[in-house]
Amino acid sequence: MKTLGKYSLGLGDRFGHQGGAQLKAIIVAGKKGIEITPVWNKSNREHTTIGTQPGDVRIEADAVTKAAGFKKPYFVDADHINLDNVERFIESSDFFTIDVASYIGKKAEDKEIDEFLSNVEKYTGYLEIPGIKSSFKISKSEVRQIAEKYLFAAIKAWDIFRKIEKAKGKGNFVTEVSMDEVPYPQTPVELFFILKMLALENIPVQTIAPKFSGRFNKGVDYVGDPLKFAEEFESDLMVIDFAIKEFGLPENLKMSIHSGSDKFAIYSHIGSLIKKHNKGIHVKTAGTTWLEEVIGLAESGNSALDFVKDIYAESLNKIEELCAPYADVIDINISSLPSKSDVLKWDNRKFAAALRHVPGNKDYNPNMRQLIHVAYKLAAHKMDEYYKLLEANEKTVGHCVYENTYNRHICRLFDIK
Ligand SMILES: [Zn+2]
Repeated sequence: MKTLGKYSLGLGDRFGHQGGAQLKAIIVAGKKGIEITPVWNKSNREHTTIGTQPGDVRIEADAVTKAAGFKKPYFVDADHINLDNVERFIESSDFFTIDVASYIGKKAEDKEIDEFLSNVEKYTGYLEIPGIKSSFKISKSEVRQIAEKYLFAAIKAWDIFRKIEKAKGKGNFVTEVSMDEVPYPQTPVELFFILKMLALENIPVQTIAPKFSGRFNKGVDYVGDPLKFAEEFESDLMVIDFAIKEFGLPENLKMSIHSGSDKFAIYSHIGSLIKKHNKGIHVKTAGTTWLEEVIGLAESGNSALDFVKDIYAESLNKIEELCAPYADVIDINISSLPSKSDVLKWDNRKFAAALRHVPGNKDYNPNMRQLIHVAYKLAAHKMDEYYKLLEANEKTVGHCVYENTYNRHICRLFDIK
């Protein structure tokens, strides 16, 4: 049975050049006593935008682990897949993030809903979840609403899971179920019943990615009240713990946070709460490695700096087109974007500082950072030139990627000093 370790980190590497630098961060954390399983994830959307194949991620993961002599488990995640696109990921992936977001809110058949309701009748009234102070008062009509909202999505998750299992064989892959890409968060009570739905078909779900309160914009910090997040996160941890025992879900089932990267304001809460309750965690970061590549190229100066300046200039002309696929996960204040002519005058240090996520640095510009984050498509259009620059400036770029993964993410999450 393929099982994920207690701590795991989802690493995005859109252009497939930074796996080694990312792995170095994992290895250094291991030396500090924090064992983290690396998981390389890439969604169908990213593959389509760049023109890569799921198999490319496998090739990269195998190559970088071999080169580093890394003998511990690692995974390749088919990120946010559904029934329509799972096929092309089956061979190369051993971790599947079954995304049911688009099925939420569609109603299952009355017969299926009634059957589910009779299954969970005993949880209506007052539900006590160990570790959560006040009990939940749950009415029958509330459970019906939850079933009407989520049961259809759970049934789809069963279908997708069966399809993967049929092709890969039982126990040969890790299953995650995600529902984070929706407008509204799931409450702990909803999460409880969703887990029951998955348990009914014995889906061996090892990670579950709910949607939390607040905004998880790509590549920038959390927007919301970190204390409210902490409270919600802790309740969800307790729900998962209870559901494992109550529904017989896998012992190692843990929370997956689709962080969108860089949620510095809540990392310390996540870290201290998993420590407090002795829980595992999977944190999926977004493709901010691409941003580190841009920063590294900017730092390298000369033609590399010119290249990234061009990307920025082009992105200003295509704001709408670039942002459209990410509308729910970015907030760009267009009037705060520096003009093309200003940026042309910038030196390497200033360009890098505008993009590097160091809150408090006067040159840091989260609007520009988000725009460049979604502009990776533009580099994909000049792939040959881009790869040449990445390779020529490998050391500088790799250092940016390592430093970002290790210092800004791993150290903060796992409280490494
Ligand atoms: Zn997600």
